[in-house]
Amino acid sequence: EDREQRIIGWFHPCVALRIRPISMAELEEGATLIAHKVDDQMVVLMDPMEDPDDVLRANRSREKSYMFDVAFDFTATQEMVYRATTKGLIEGVISGYNATVFAYGPTGCGKTYTMLGTDHEPGIYVRTLDDLFRAIEATSDNMEYEVSMSYLEIYNEMIRDLLNPSLGYLDLREDSKGVIQVAGITEVSTINAKEIMQLLMKGNKQRTQEPTAANRASSRSHAVLQVTVRQKSRVKNIMQEVRVGRLFMIDLAGSERASQTQNRGQRMKEGAHINRSLLALGNCINALSDRAGGKYVNYRDSKLTRLLKDSLGGNSRTVMIAHISPANSAFEESRSTLTYADRAK
Ligand code: ADP
Ligand code: MG
Repeated sequence: EDREQRIIGWFHPCVALRIRPISMAELEEGATLIAHKVDDQMVVLMDPMEDPDDVLRANRSREKSYMFDVAFDFTATQEMVYRATTKGLIEGVISGYNATVFAYGPTGCGKTYTMLGTDHEPGIYVRTLDDLFRAIEATSDNMEYEVSMSYLEIYNEMIRDLLNPSLGYLDLREDSKGVIQVAGITEVSTINAKEIMQLLMKGNKQRTQEPTAANRASSRSHAVLQVTVRQKSRVKNIMQEVRVGRLFMIDLAGSERASQTQNRGQRMKEGAHINRSLLALGNCINALSDRAGGKYVNYRDSKLTRLLKDSLGGNSRTVMIAHISPANSAFEESRSTLTYADRAK
């Protein structure tokens, strides 16, 4: 049991906040903008319910500010977000360290856009793999590097291979070195960036999506892209594995609460599972951000945290990119997302 708990180490999580552009649908509903980026680290959210006169009389502000390691708004490009959050992890992964980047936020706020992106505006997945291949090609040591990736979803606390869904549900196993593995998952070895994008786009379409009462296609699953870099050296004509670095890039399920989407029955159960994984992840991140350190974290609480056991805390770097809409109609969701993300750093 003790092996499932780890003392949290010294790497503080990096927390970024991205405000997506206002959408056509929001504009058509006559939405107003209530979330703004003030500078590269500060975001303010205005409470649209508060009476401006009351606020004036009480000499308060309708705006609440939140601080992050880095903040982005509609002017941020995919490249800017990638550079400020993920690019810096590549060197460590090649050297055998683990890292995790995850996109957090309510459905429709830009998580998949940030991680997967589009053909014309590829996101963090492809940019990272591109730079990873380039960095490996540029190394001048005598090591041999092998990159492989797998793409899975965690839905209802069950794991499915997004590159080969017909495999059914897969189990988490610990190998002889105590490393968590997904038993039987498809591992794709080095292919070019264009093929990777097609593979991931196809995989993403396999994700479990359910329409909810909120009337939008809500991603009920966590999508996990796992990239493994194996470094080998030739000793007496035998290739010997020296180091393994792992990078997890995760498009989390929508963080909106089950109660807000008026889910019932099966949906409610899904909501509970999503909350369980998000809650467990939140607890881990909270412990990570505790500057006093020395906190124990329970990785056993969910499939997601079990999978990430060796890639959160310790000498693994963690990056969280939280997402919000700028519209007044999203106020409650934005406030809870900002609060969650603010607490995580
Ligand atoms: P989520 O994955 O959080 O549910 P999506 O990534 O699917 O949200 O984003 C919802 C919609 O908004 C999509 O049509 C997406 O293309 C668009 N979108 C999100 N973020 C941005 C952005 N930064 N720039 C342009 N379009 C965006
Ligand atoms: Mg999505």
